[in-house]
Amino acid sequence: MPETVAVIGAGLVGCLTAIALAKRDYKVTLFDYRLDPRDQKTIDRNLRSINLAISSRGISSLEFVDKEVAGRVLKGIIPMKGRMIHHLNGAQESQTYGLFGESINSIDRAVLNHLLLDELERIGSDKVQVKFGHKLSKIKYGKPDEFQSCVFATEEGVDQVYATNFVVGCDGSYSTTRDQMQREVRMHFSQEYIDCCYIELYIPPSKNYDARYKGNFSLAPDHLHIWPRHQYMLIALANADGSFTSTFFGPWGLVESLLKSEARVREFLIKNFPDAMEIMGINQAVKSFMSHPKGALMCIECDPYNVSGGRGIILGDAAHSMVPFYGQGMNCGFEDVKVLMKLLDAYDGDRAKAFDAYTRERHQDLTAIVKLAKRNYKEMSHDVTSKVFLLRKKLDHWLGKLLKDKWLPLYTMVSFRADIPYHKAIAISKRQKTILDFIQVLIIAAISLLGYEGFKRVSRRLKQASRQ
Ligand code: FAD
Repeated sequence: MPETVAVIGAGLVGCLTAIALAKRDYKVTLFDYRLDPRDQKTIDRNLRSINLAISSRGISSLEFVDKEVAGRVLKGIIPMKGRMIHHLNGAQESQTYGLFGESINSIDRAVLNHLLLDELERIGSDKVQVKFGHKLSKIKYGKPDEFQSCVFATEEGVDQVYATNFVVGCDGSYSTTRDQMQREVRMHFSQEYIDCCYIELYIPPSKNYDARYKGNFSLAPDHLHIWPRHQYMLIALANADGSFTSTFFGPWGLVESLLKSEARVREFLIKNFPDAMEIMGINQAVKSFMSHPKGALMCIECDPYNVSGGRGIILGDAAHSMVPFYGQGMNCGFEDVKVLMKLLDAYDGDRAKAFDAYTRERHQDLTAIVKLAKRNYKEMSHDVTSKVFLLRKKLDHWLGKLLKDKWLPLYTMVSFRADIPYHKAIAISKRQKTILDFIQVLIIAAISLLGYEGFKRVSRRLKQASRQ
């Protein structure tokens, strides 16, 4: 008899977990309190951004679970090779992400979720069953080797109880699985809201076809667009139909004071994002700004992630909610699935050992990326406009190109090198930062000695020499 598993949450991470476990011959039941999101009648636009950036960790984890599934669900992605900074005077400045043309990719959250649910159907109901309209309310953990019983409130208004060998909680930031786990294990847990809210806006497709972009795009689709204004910012990611999903991020105090009147919102948007308002349409932008839900952003850290004896574990946002400024929340959640499956394979299906090892090995990476994501808000909204930051970035890239694997910019390690765990990426970047600090001091000394023109001459010669 195959062992049974209840996966809680049919979001992005829950779907991938269900696919991976079904492939390992567990009998999977996937529960979600929503109704089927593919059903037109139940489409709910939840609070979160409708397109996401997927990068190497997410892609390689999908491929690890199933190469063919990855091929099918990633068909519509739009590569973004860099950031496009929109200055207040309308000038645009491209800052590439990778050293050798690497890209992150824009992907529609809902389409990805629907395609993953389709893949579960393709596996077949003898291996995976999906139960929508089931809201987990309680888990009663049995002794190791006993069943765990999960209680669900259902659409019909009656509670249903499911007994299962183990539970995997992928039920997002406000996870009930995690709450229930905290009654069983002494879990360290922290939750922090940052003073930033987000509002989704929309840039419609352009009326005109643009041959450069091969579509009706009013901005370059191969960039993540940022309008950095220090305390707040606007970003936009392309969709396949020529539209862009745009998100405003700013402090709650500002948003709440602005929201008091339509006139103030209008004045604020025109003053700070004039070029964006031209393509968005100011009336539509004001309406969306005032009426769309305001999303809160939080960081969650916990430890351990599992209940002993292989009875339960949490993955994805349930275990490590992070702010979206490194574009890693889903990528990291997908990587959780890969790491867990590798451990299950390594321990030959011994869940107790694999889950304990997961907590032991994964914790330092999860806390590292949660902290890094928080730090990146300042980089996106402010640093990208600073000359010193850009100079260091250039130097960082130049060293990366010159020294190849011996020098890796942090962004490259996090977004393009799934083989480098998050905590190692941060440790390497700390060492490199010390060297960059030193070089910066040398540059300042050289400029004061040679003058700016003299310094430029010497650095041109050095560049030429490095190319030979
Ligand atoms: P969720 O997507 O939250 O799914 C949880 C599921 O569990 C839901 O379907 C919910 O209905 C269900 N559920 C909850 N409670 C219960 C219950 N009691 N019973 C049954 N079902 C339940 N990440 C990136 O990698 N790249 C990005 O560019 C990016 N951009 C982002 C932009 C914004 C503005 C935000 C807010 C987030 C962004 N993220 C990004 C993060 C990403 O959205 C999340 O990390 C990802 O969605 C987490 O997936 P999940 O499956 O763990 O959780």
